Amino acid sequence: MSALNHLWRENIRQMVPYSSARDEYQGQEAIWLDANENPFPTGLNRYPDPYQRELKAIISRMKAQPESQLFLGHGSDEAIDLLLRATCDPGKDNILICPPTYGMYRVAADIQGAGVVEVPLTSTFNLDTQRIVEATNQQSVKLIFICSPNNPTGNLMDRQAIETILSETNALVVIDEAYVDFAGIPSWIESIEKYSNLLVLQTFSKAWGMAGARLGMAWAQPEIIQVLNRIKPPYNINQFTLNMVSDLLSAPDPTDSYRKVILRERKQLQKALQTLPFVQKVFRSDANFLLVQVEDAKRLYDYLVDKGIVVRNRHSAVPNTIRITIGQPEENTQLLNALKQFT
Ligand SMILES: *Cc1c(COP(=O)(O)O)cnc(C)c1O
Repeated sequence: MSALNHLWRENIRQMVPYSSARDEYQGQEAIWLDANENPFPTGLNRYPDPYQRELKAIISRMKAQPESQLFLGHGSDEAIDLLLRATCDPGKDNILICPPTYGMYRVAADIQGAGVVEVPLTSTFNLDTQRIVEATNQQSVKLIFICSPNNPTGNLMDRQAIETILSETNALVVIDEAYVDFAGIPSWIESIEKYSNLLVLQTFSKAWGMAGARLGMAWAQPEIIQVLNRIKPPYNINQFTLNMVSDLLSAPDPTDSYRKVILRERKQLQKALQTLPFVQKVFRSDANFLLVQVEDAKRLYDYLVDKGIVVRNRHSAVPNTIRITIGQPEENTQLLNALKQFT
């Protein structure tokens, strides 16, 4: 802990992490009498590897990034929570968010008792770079959350703007890339060597089709990864998930075929939605959903629910918008048929 020492709370710097049985002995072949497990094989009688070494080796090969830069969490939501707990003293430190954006950043801050500094996106949903830099340097901002592509607006954030924020602040800049697989641009994980204050969140919940497995990734320089490892629950990724995702990654990559269909459907749905009389705007999307502005979001939402189609009413984030996740082709057709009958 050196260049980033200012980020960590004093108690986090001082604490002695829990040392599990699997921390203290790491050999492979043994008679295991150390963890009070049931000795009879049920398939899951042993605790999982607390550092998920086998799965991390597979992921780091796939992404061509060192394992020492990878943390695995129970969804990226666990990484968000741990980042708050590692950096923000309750009642003292702040995070910075750019609404409208993903709701979990504020929830994690509220749980921790951290303040939330808001620098809203511009009218075109872009980063207000200078205000972000100024607000960060004037207030005690430990974490800046940038969601790109952003949820719920769907657009990518400007690369140059993010570079300015990385260079001109000493907060930890968290880039949430939950939807990066739909955006057709390189990931920020390739810039981790360059920026010691960069952390990139990715997830198996969207493009990989594994939301039920709860597996998220955080990529950053080893100093940051080590702090997350020190404070995480010892066995945060369960053996089922480790097995499922290892199998998934050992087979041919399924995401290309999912992505092909989803991107084609996104384009078609965007076009079709624009022809509907009550649709005011379909925002440009780099993700697997469309944000659509309509005359009356609540009335449309209720109408669709009545037809058995559930979208997300995002009126509270952007006035009179609904967010539509791209479904299977047949589902999107049914959605359009229902919308054509809406009066
Ligand atoms: C869906 C989503 C995630 C994924 O969270 P998990 O806990 O990994 O399922 C993260 N960030 C954003 C912005 C999302 O929309």
